[in-house]
Amino acid sequence: MFRPTLAIATLGGTLSMQSCHPDQGITPSLGGAQLLASVPELYALADIRVESLSLVPSASLDFEFLLHVLDWANRQIAQGVQAVVITQGTDTLEETAAFFEYLWTHDEPLILTGAMRCADQAGADGPANLLDACRVALSASSKGRGVLVVMNAEVHHALRIRKNHTVALHAFSSPTLGPAGLMIEHCVHYLHPATARMTLPLPSRTSHKVALLEASLSADVLLVEQLVGLGYEGLVIAGFGAGHLSELWAEVLQPIAAKIPVIVGSRTGAGPTAFNTYGFKGGEIDLTGKGLHMSGFLCPRKARLLLWLLIGCGQQSRLKNFLRNLSVAG
Ligand code: ASP
Repeated sequence: MFRPTLAIATLGGTLSMQSCHPDQGITPSLGGAQLLASVPELYALADIRVESLSLVPSASLDFEFLLHVLDWANRQIAQGVQAVVITQGTDTLEETAAFFEYLWTHDEPLILTGAMRCADQAGADGPANLLDACRVALSASSKGRGVLVVMNAEVHHALRIRKNHTVALHAFSSPTLGPAGLMIEHCVHYLHPATARMTLPLPSRTSHKVALLEASLSADVLLVEQLVGLGYEGLVIAGFGAGHLSELWAEVLQPIAAKIPVIVGSRTGAGPTAFNTYGFKGGEIDLTGKGLHMSGFLCPRKARLLLWLLIGCGQQSRLKNFLRNLSVAG
């Protein structure tokens, strides 16, 4: 009988953390082999290859390293594994998932997971999340769905998931659309059909910078005015409400949008930006008229990653097309 092979990479995060000294806080300390020891059920599902690629809190992951992880995952697929699972910290999980989704060109699933409770805490969720992630990775129904995140018995699409609680077990959700699937009796049940994906080639440069700013009441424009001079090649703004800025920001951004791509999303955390409703200065109709782009359903963080990758592979001209396609609910 066919026995699948699953490749697992561990990067660190709370899932790998425990307290090594009674008086100090928890820190990453468990590598891949130790994590797998907490989930013996895994070996009934597949042959497992595991590698510890880092042991860090996820705030310290960066693009260069993620490209190295992607290269590792691509090599696993080239060597014939059926799926790849990556464990990491939850603080940046929504961003790394999107980063990989833009670059993952395979039909084989790439599944990310983490934990809200550390490994030596009563009721630790890491082992259950890891086991669920592997089940999702090995399910035939996950093929062609790209990068997914499995947390708390829910499966989320990489471009929709957000962390919206600091400590709760149910810290993740996919606002507006809900999860892509649920774990029920150890199996994944998808709630939405797979949607068409858009991917990018690997970036040929990585030193460029894309800024992410949040609009806030009565905010000045000092930083905004300096951006181009400082060498930023793109800007994403988490705008008010449905993607709005003050009149002052709108004016200052017009000449900037003629030099670098500027995307406006929403700081609210749920729902798409508007495209054609508000007519005031700083509203979406005025902003698009000034050459700015509205991000639709894409949240500002994920829009920043998209812009960074587009610039990195020299395909900025595809920005409109990407935003149009990713801006629809799906
Ligand atoms: N709280 C985080 C976690 O869940 C820390 C991190 O992101 O590494 O793993």
